Amino acid sequence: LLEIRGVHKSYGLLEALRGVDLTVQPGEVAAIIGPSGSGKSTLLRAINHLEKVDRGFVSLDGELIGYTRHGNTLRELTEREVLRRRTRIGFVFQNFNLFPHLTVLENIVEAPVFAQGRPRAEAEAEARELLARVGLADRADARPRQLSGGQQQRVAIARALALRPAVVLFDEPTSALDPELVGEVLGVIKELAGTGTTLVVVTHEVGFAREIADTVVFMDEGVVVEQGPPDSVLDHPVNPRTKAFLEKVL
Ligand code: ATP
Ligand code: MG
Repeated sequence: LLEIRGVHKSYGLLEALRGVDLTVQPGEVAAIIGPSGSGKSTLLRAINHLEKVDRGFVSLDGELIGYTRHGNTLRELTEREVLRRRTRIGFVFQNFNLFPHLTVLENIVEAPVFAQGRPRAEAEAEARELLARVGLADRADARPRQLSGGQQQRVAIARALALRPAVVLFDEPTSALDPELVGEVLGVIKELAGTGTTLVVVTHEVGFAREIADTVVFMDEGVVVEQGPPDSVLDHPVNPRTKAFLEKVL
């Protein structure tokens, strides 16, 4: 269970998040939509504690990523503890963020071996299974630059899954891709959504959100404006800001 409660985040005078509340149930697929600058990426980074929140909290199965409770006060975890807890959350970035000097297989086994301390042989065997699952069984020894954008993003998805995460976050996973490569990445995410993995997907592809999401979250100006099943939020929005946004993008 992913819980986000009253999360605030400012950059100087700019309030990027102004009290975000969101709950994602285990196995649920949440799609976040909203205009540019509404705080979608900031929220994903806050979930992962890549961004420290000013107020509120994010917890995963009752555990805070960046802090530990001491009675009523919170103590900040060490960098090492944060890294370990963060491995419970997979993150797929817009620009893939693969390690360019490592092979595809090495990219995938890096975190399981070094951050989770799993045996290399086991991590490699699992990495090969994951590569097969994303349709890249034969590219284990390639370097990222030898792959297309769509292939790189599929490697990034395999790398996220190798952590056996409780939840996987996607930040506009297809927006850096040539149009003809979008489908293969959406296909992999769709397959994943069908397997009961908890996913939070920021996307500007409203049609895709409709297809995969159990719940659609519309964000605007740093808050969740409206949330619900795709057919209510996308087809019968109640909030005028949601209506205005959908009229522009659909
Ligand atoms: P997009 O759809 O364009 O990706 P977004 O919804 O992901 O937009 P964010 O990237 O979360 O929006 O940004 C929210 C606001 O916070 C924006 O006004 C942005 O300029 C600002 N912001 C984000 N990151 C930083 C930063 N590191 N320093 C200063 N301002 C930032
Ligand atoms: Mg963004």
